Amino acid sequence: MRYISTRGQAPALNFEDVLLAGLATDGGLYVPENLPRFTQEEIASWAGLPYHELAFRVMRPFVTGSIPDAEFKKILEETYGVFAHSAVAPLRQLNGNEWVLELFHGPTLAFKDFALQLLGRLLDYVLEKRGERVVIVGATSGDTGSAAIEGCKHCENVDIFILHPHNRVSEVQRRQMTTIFGENIHNIAIEGNFDDCQEMVKASFADQGFLKGTRLVAVNSINWARIMAQIVYYFHASLQLGGPARSVSFSVPTGNFGDIFAGYLARNMGLPINQLIVATNRNDILHRFMSGNQYVKETLHATLSPSMDIMVSSNFERLLFDLHGRNGASIAGLMDSFKQGGGFSVEPERWTEARKLFDSLAVDDAQTCETIAEVYEQTGEVLDPHTAIGVKAARECRRSLDIPMVILGTAHPVKFPDAVEKAGVGKELELPAHLSDLFERDERCTVLPNDLKAVQAFVSQHGNRGKPL
Ligand SMILES: *Cc1c(COP(=O)(O)O)cnc(C)c1O
Repeated sequence: MRYISTRGQAPALNFEDVLLAGLATDGGLYVPENLPRFTQEEIASWAGLPYHELAFRVMRPFVTGSIPDAEFKKILEETYGVFAHSAVAPLRQLNGNEWVLELFHGPTLAFKDFALQLLGRLLDYVLEKRGERVVIVGATSGDTGSAAIEGCKHCENVDIFILHPHNRVSEVQRRQMTTIFGENIHNIAIEGNFDDCQEMVKASFADQGFLKGTRLVAVNSINWARIMAQIVYYFHASLQLGGPARSVSFSVPTGNFGDIFAGYLARNMGLPINQLIVATNRNDILHRFMSGNQYVKETLHATLSPSMDIMVSSNFERLLFDLHGRNGASIAGLMDSFKQGGGFSVEPERWTEARKLFDSLAVDDAQTCETIAEVYEQTGEVLDPHTAIGVKAARECRRSLDIPMVILGTAHPVKFPDAVEKAGVGKELELPAHLSDLFERDERCTVLPNDLKAVQAFVSQHGNRGKPL
């Protein structure tokens, strides 16, 4: 399988190189040159497979030529073996024909484990083979950091540095990062906000001199391998609900457009999906595009669903690429005008094409709390605020009651106790067994000033299993 850039200028890469690449050299994102397509019979024959075996069948075409089947199978079995629920991604019924796909049974209790547990293992396999080491520098406002650290903690060939804004992530989120020890794990609290952290990561990719030749790898959702891993659970959910003979719809709590883009790919690979709902919080750039063909940057608001607090959605470029007939020059032009003027719309036919599949809703904090309370009353289930936004959007935007509606349950409610409390849910939430002593554990973290040079110096001092690069 070869991968091409959405801006048409960077060289095509194989899977191995795409895994290690961040942005393409032309500023674009990598996508498969040709998407594999499965027949209905093939998909139907996967019903009842354990999750890791289904994962092998769905992802195999993407890694062909880079990872032998036997190795890939072993990696997948290990990856999904760490999940705390034997079904890995169980479906829970909320209402008639309405289901939550629980994606929070991984080590850090959010769906990002599906991709980052795999990414760590893939990196280690590929780096071992090549005899290389890499450094990861990532920024987090919460969920990505802990999932990336959990995914890489056993990697022999990776040193990981995660930047989070000092005193601005929740205590559960912070402890999920800072209580994991290893000579290759480095938590840095920056005396600044999340944007400052992200800017430092971007600047480090742009100027890598401080790494003394060691390669820098991206763990945010622009990394193709993360998207790839998320395609699997759309197949998994559909097969549980009568697919592929029956069509299914999905509502996806959305920030960077990575998770829902995986659903779009699943459909293009042959899975019958009737409707994809983009569920956003008050940071609603995607909703404004889907409802009114305006992709325009606005100020960032802090919400009760912080993992979806974004101003622009990086993976949206991958959808735009398809909507523009995969013409890289058009995307380069659009992205340029976005950077200059802060906004664009697309030709009406292209927007109409997108609207055949996608609907959207923006849900504010008050509605989020109302939904948590409503679902608790109806079912006794406590939703996390991100998932609640998905449920609200599903209920508002659903096209057909006959088609099963699956809401992606992106996080465990115990990660977001503030929202649950605001919703008036009196139930005491408990940390799952593997995290039950989280609040007693020691923490390890370095506080650094909001200064790029200080961060880069720290990385080069500790980037080789705690020793200088
Ligand atoms: C990351 C995250 C999202 C947003 O996913 P995207 O792929 O960025 O759209 C939603 N909910 C939770 C809990 C998350 O951690």
